[in-house]
Amino acid sequence: MAPSVGIPCSLLYFWFYPFWETFFRELGARVVTSGSTNKQILDLGVKEALADACVPVKLYFGHVQALMPEVDFLFVPRLVCLNYQTTYCPKFLGLPDMIRHTFTGSPPLIDIRIDVREGLHALPKAYWQAGRALGAKHAAVARAYLLAWKAQRRYLTLLQKGLLPGEAAPGKSSPTGKRPPDRRGRLVFGVLGYPYLVHDPYISVGLIARLQKMGVGVITLENIPPRLLYRQPLPLDKRLFWTPGDLVYRAALYLLSSRRVHGLIHVTAFGCGPDAMVGKYLEQALRRHPEVPFLTLTVDEHTGEAGMATRIEAFVDMVRRPKAGW
Ligand code: SF4
Repeated sequence: MAPSVGIPCSLLYFWFYPFWETFFRELGARVVTSGSTNKQILDLGVKEALADACVPVKLYFGHVQALMPEVDFLFVPRLVCLNYQTTYCPKFLGLPDMIRHTFTGSPPLIDIRIDVREGLHALPKAYWQAGRALGAKHAAVARAYLLAWKAQRRYLTLLQKGLLPGEAAPGKSSPTGKRPPDRRGRLVFGVLGYPYLVHDPYISVGLIARLQKMGVGVITLENIPPRLLYRQPLPLDKRLFWTPGDLVYRAALYLLSSRRVHGLIHVTAFGCGPDAMVGKYLEQALRRHPEVPFLTLTVDEHTGEAGMATRIEAFVDMVRRPKAGW
């Protein structure tokens, strides 16, 4: 029987799921995901993760537990660096160790370490190790790797056309099929933050759907081509160290300088170390653009629906009022 590989629907699942799913499926594995976050998953994570961990890490623990009885292997990659310049937050670097030491009876982990600074072949080599964990031959891994890239490129193209991760992922569809949303003549907000906060409707308390229901068009970090982000001049002496934080900051600068949004919302997790800096830099950037209203939404495991809804509605009303007609 084909081995099953579990992929937790949390953290960088929202960026790399098409690659991971295609890679393991093409190697003949049965790919099992933990599904959307719900209260049970959150409670499981809160119970097992360190009390001072950020809520995304707690959620990851919950998703892992939901998968543990179902699968032969768990895919828990150690993502270090994918762009030669910045690294992922230390929580990502320690993820396989945290999972292994917390859940001693967990299925074997496929815990490849990915750091492209180790050389040209670092990425294929890491996936070669993942394939070897499943007993796959070299040619099969090479084929799965190429098909995974193809799926990932298709996904990125759809994101850059304006779809959101939940709409562009294989097997999912948006209200307009795979067509980009039409934002002409609408109030448009940039909603910036880490993908596992912004695109997890449970922890963001349905932020994006709420905005869309109120007639607000949404642009997220994933909709902006990376070449535009990396071309963005930074008003800093050096870049930020952490990859997602660096991208969020660049996305804010890009949206502000290109005047593409009428408001900006930053979604951040309570207790996030990197965001303590990113948030401050965003505030500084917004001071140079006082015409763009700015809202910070901090989420944690106690975030309530009523409080979140009130803040979002008040923000939309505030932006909309002077621009009658939207
Ligand atoms: S970047 Fe922040 S929210 Fe994300 S894992 Fe690290 S500490 Fe948690």
